[in-house]
Amino acid sequence: MTDARLLCVHAHPDDESLWTGGILARYAGEQVPIKVITCTDGVRADGSSVAAPGVRVAELRKAMAILGAGEPQVLDYRDSGGAGSGAAEPGSFCAAVFDEVVRTLVTEIRAFRPTTVVTYDAFGVYGHPDHLQAHRATVAAVEASAHPKLYPESGQPWQVAGLWLVTTPDLPFDAAVDVGPWLDTKWQALRAHESEFDRGAGVSVFTDPRVREQLLSTEYFSHRPAPRPRTGSPATDLLAG
Ligand SMILES: [Zn+2]
Repeated sequence: MTDARLLCVHAHPDDESLWTGGILARYAGEQVPIKVITCTDGVRADGSSVAAPGVRVAELRKAMAILGAGEPQVLDYRDSGGAGSGAAEPGSFCAAVFDEVVRTLVTEIRAFRPTTVVTYDAFGVYGHPDHLQAHRATVAAVEASAHPKLYPESGQPWQVAGLWLVTTPDLPFDAAVDVGPWLDTKWQALRAHESEFDRGAGVSVFTDPRVREQLLSTEYFSHRPAPRPRTGSPATDLLAG
């Protein structure tokens, strides 16, 4: 597993812990190089945020430190959710020029050279527009990264070995990863997103240890087949084993 490198592309601060906290803690412990890209800073583009600017990114950094997964890279977009139809708000992730987002991700993929990339399934796990945008952009970027004629100014082509999409057990999945041994770490990381608990967001349900045990101790992924690598490609796909 020496050549394995893991990239997770998430939409908001807290998603890294909620959906992938177990695998991040596990592979960080195995010294797998890890990169987490969080596409928004968690501030709502429509101005409906409860937390002050900067709070959610600070919480994200704390969570990442707890997971042992290093510094996150936060892209310069706002949360498209919120009270109204935030999707069209200027500055929101969903209002971003798609090609610009893909280009950014291609550049990061070619620089970091991950063997395994993780993002959300085609439904965005539960339909949040930013999760859908992250899915679309990441799928496009993983394919584009391998193509020498696409974004030639964004680095040498890189073929990812495995693209895995966060999903839930009520949908078809290809990998169910038991992260029970890392559940406490995952919970501490999730808990670092204090402002989300303070405002009574959905994550508050996990304050009940039975709910945590039931819903957070397994992480589900569906596999998106990638084209067969052409040359000199990485071999280790972390979640395929
Ligand atoms: Zn999210």
